[in-house]
Amino acid sequence: MKKPVYLDYAATTPVDPAVADEMFRYLTPDGFFGNPASRSHGFGWQAEAAVESARNQVASLIHADPREIVWTSGATESDNLAIKGAVAGHDNPHIITSTVEHKAVVDTCAWLEEQGVEVTWLEPGRDGIVQPQQVFAALKPETTLVSLMLVNNELGCITDIITIGAELRSRGVLFHVDAAQAAGKMAVDVTTMPVDFMSLSGHKVYGPKGVGALYVRRSPDVRVQAQIHGGGHERGMRSGTLPTHQIVGMGKAFALAQSCLEDEADDLERLRTLFLEGLHDLPGVTLNGSEASRVPGIVNLSFEGVDGESLMLGLRNLAVSSGSACASATVEPSYVLRGIGLSDELAHRALRFSFGRYTTAEEIEFASGHIVDVVTRLRAVR
Ligand SMILES: *Cc1c(COP(=O)(O)O)cnc(C)c1O
Repeated sequence: MKKPVYLDYAATTPVDPAVADEMFRYLTPDGFFGNPASRSHGFGWQAEAAVESARNQVASLIHADPREIVWTSGATESDNLAIKGAVAGHDNPHIITSTVEHKAVVDTCAWLEEQGVEVTWLEPGRDGIVQPQQVFAALKPETTLVSLMLVNNELGCITDIITIGAELRSRGVLFHVDAAQAAGKMAVDVTTMPVDFMSLSGHKVYGPKGVGALYVRRSPDVRVQAQIHGGGHERGMRSGTLPTHQIVGMGKAFALAQSCLEDEADDLERLRTLFLEGLHDLPGVTLNGSEASRVPGIVNLSFEGVDGESLMLGLRNLAVSSGSACASATVEPSYVLRGIGLSDELAHRALRFSFGRYTTAEEIEFASGHIVDVVTRLRAVR
């Protein structure tokens, strides 16, 4: 059988071949395999130089100082480090977040809530976007941290973190932003976005899985309490031998993203238009999330009269995602779609299509035609 068309770039991206080549040079006996923390010989120095060069590349994409980048194992760990590490040591912390954050934020805040931390869960409107006024209205004198994502991974919509961050900074409230779906997809600039912590992931931007970073602002200086101890790497914020090959891969991937950001966004916008045009004549299709404020590569659609799971099974030649979770025998609809006010029934009818660097116009035309066929067939047998 022909390989299915991959339309799940929001779940993960393939590694760019140039990134894989670069990574390979840091693994083998004839390569730069040293421990970047080894101070006593050239193997260590070369590995350390590679790590610092990658730190520059990652910092550069978000206009940060390289000293503000802490390596982690991925955005999940970055979210944990920022949130747990920022509230640690506060007597009576209060966190504001939302119900449509990534599980790495939702579950971390829920765990802290069980430990006695007060958490306010904001609910966005149908467009999926938490409004600045909602955040400001939830602020209390003891509010320690606000955690919101820049781009939602299921809907693609963009939060106004500039407006939110400016107010939070004036009130002395820390601001964590999960930018795993934003970096490389839109302009991200910490010199104009007043955030204190920003989570980044390698594998959403054509880098490898298992590596990420947390941006921790230096001026004005903020601190996080380490959540992993042992050796004091990364200025004491995250211990553990640095995975040179992973880090070099993420650095290369971020450098590539920076060099092709605008062209790639334009290409994805064209593919999105082509995709939606291909579905234009199919009745009963609605777009979930904001149409106005969004990245181009994620399209979340509900199909009237068909169940998303059946549709996904029917779309045998497409690799897509429904955002639903299998909880034992039952399929739970996406908590993000429930979070924007969709009924269980409507949430069950949704699928997420996400495009990326290797998606072609032919694939998009094939995908929309395939969807029209399968939806029409499923509706007919109802
Ligand atoms: C993928 C993703 C994560 C998790 O990143 P990992 O590197 O896989 O741990 C966190 N937040 C968002 C918004 C994501 O899309």
